[in-house]
Amino acid sequence: MYKITILLKDTEFEHDVFELTRAFFPEASFSVLYSEEEMPGDHDLLIVSDRSGDEYRISYESGDKRLLKTAGRLPDLPDGNPARKQNKDIIKSMLYELLSGETKRTLPWGDLTGIRPAKLATEMLENGSSAEEAKNELMSRYMVSEKKACLAAEIAVRELELLSRVDCRTGYSLYVGIPFCPSICLYCSFSSFSLNAWSTRVDDYLTALEKEIAGTAALMRETKRRLNTIYIGGGTPTSLNERQMDRLLRAICSQFDLSGLMEFTVEAGRPDSITEEKLKVIHSFPVTRISVNPQTMNQKTLDLIGRKHTVYQTEEAFRLARRTGFDNINMDLIVGLPGEEEPDVRNTLEQIRELSPESMTVHSLAVKRSARLNIFRDLYQEMTFENNQKIIDLTIEAAGAMKMAPYYMYRQKNMKGNFENVGYARAGKECLYNILIMEQKEPIIALGAGGSTKFQIPGSSRICRIENVKDVAEYISRVDEMTDRKRTGIMRWLTTTH
Ligand code: SF4
Repeated sequence: MYKITILLKDTEFEHDVFELTRAFFPEASFSVLYSEEEMPGDHDLLIVSDRSGDEYRISYESGDKRLLKTAGRLPDLPDGNPARKQNKDIIKSMLYELLSGETKRTLPWGDLTGIRPAKLATEMLENGSSAEEAKNELMSRYMVSEKKACLAAEIAVRELELLSRVDCRTGYSLYVGIPFCPSICLYCSFSSFSLNAWSTRVDDYLTALEKEIAGTAALMRETKRRLNTIYIGGGTPTSLNERQMDRLLRAICSQFDLSGLMEFTVEAGRPDSITEEKLKVIHSFPVTRISVNPQTMNQKTLDLIGRKHTVYQTEEAFRLARRTGFDNINMDLIVGLPGEEEPDVRNTLEQIRELSPESMTVHSLAVKRSARLNIFRDLYQEMTFENNQKIIDLTIEAAGAMKMAPYYMYRQKNMKGNFENVGYARAGKECLYNILIMEQKEPIIALGAGGSTKFQIPGSSRICRIENVKDVAEYISRVDEMTDRKRTGIMRWLTTTH
């Protein structure tokens, strides 16, 4: 395996230096060091990040070859100062030029390593740039390819148009997590709990969740903020049986004021957990959007990735949802799954087109360290993990043929081919929650195990997080503490904002 050592004599932007180097060498093994004394003797490539006075230095050493780039830097600035970003841009663009020059490769997203490339474009538009100017700036300043810069600018325009309908200043969104799944997928890195092992605790979980719902609803009534959107995600929310689903939806709808609600999504998720009875229960509440997630329409891949459902079950679940009366159904896909090549993706897209959902979210496979796919990597060595622009283009074409346009996007670490996840929707069928969570324009109040409540710290771009514990048993026993922590955090935030 190709070995890379990163020596950080200057640690100011260590995360960015590491992520950008890894984007060029996704399969390499890395050692990150902070002093020369720790240096191992053997590596194929050494990157050194250093600074002295008002200058940054980045060097690249491979075999006998040593290249050095230097650039002036701005003085030290406190965290959160917008000008501090300029120093980061300087160091990243030097490193990008070195790595790109030596590998003779460019990256689709240039030197951007963050998860929200469209956020940069939205900021440019908010500061008065046109979409064309935003696109050009992404290309010239961050070396983003023209195709991706166009995508980011297009999404930014649509996001801003959609957000103009939401009063983020006085509103908030609610996320409710159901952390159970019928079985655990091979690539999963969420903290999801297998229903087989946890079925006897689901009602205890709901009892705890009802407490958190009641406590948080009371708190939000005091804040007088308006509930804009609700998203029930997971895990797989339809792991709940119909009685439990009814219990959950009843608790939410009776405790929160839904008079201003713009959207209510239930991520049904795994087709093997969707039944007619559950769909009827969901439809009897003011749910506006559901998601039926195939990930792929190729049976051999479904079997391989441990999704334990058939292609037929996906089609049936989708048709059932239609018959029940849902007129806004999303389907999630993953490209880059093990063993899948262009014809497989083409097949998936053709079958999705026949079903004709209102929206489709295309994920590029990201294999996190904790996923079984990574842990048992050796077992899958022979397999292709194919993802390339041609495959991405197929998904763009299919979305266009279904009259969908891209409206939100995010990137993850360890994505195959350094691509992106894109949500496409027909006009009027977009999911506002997806944009709100990306753009962080209003507080997201999260309930349930693993829920992460987020709101922006006044006067800065930083986000404050209040995390619930991830473990289901811990959550059940400590739910009062979760509710109290939220109350303290939100009240403190309100006193600083008003
Ligand atoms: S359905 Fe989603 S959350 Fe559940 S195991 Fe699969 S990837 Fe993880």
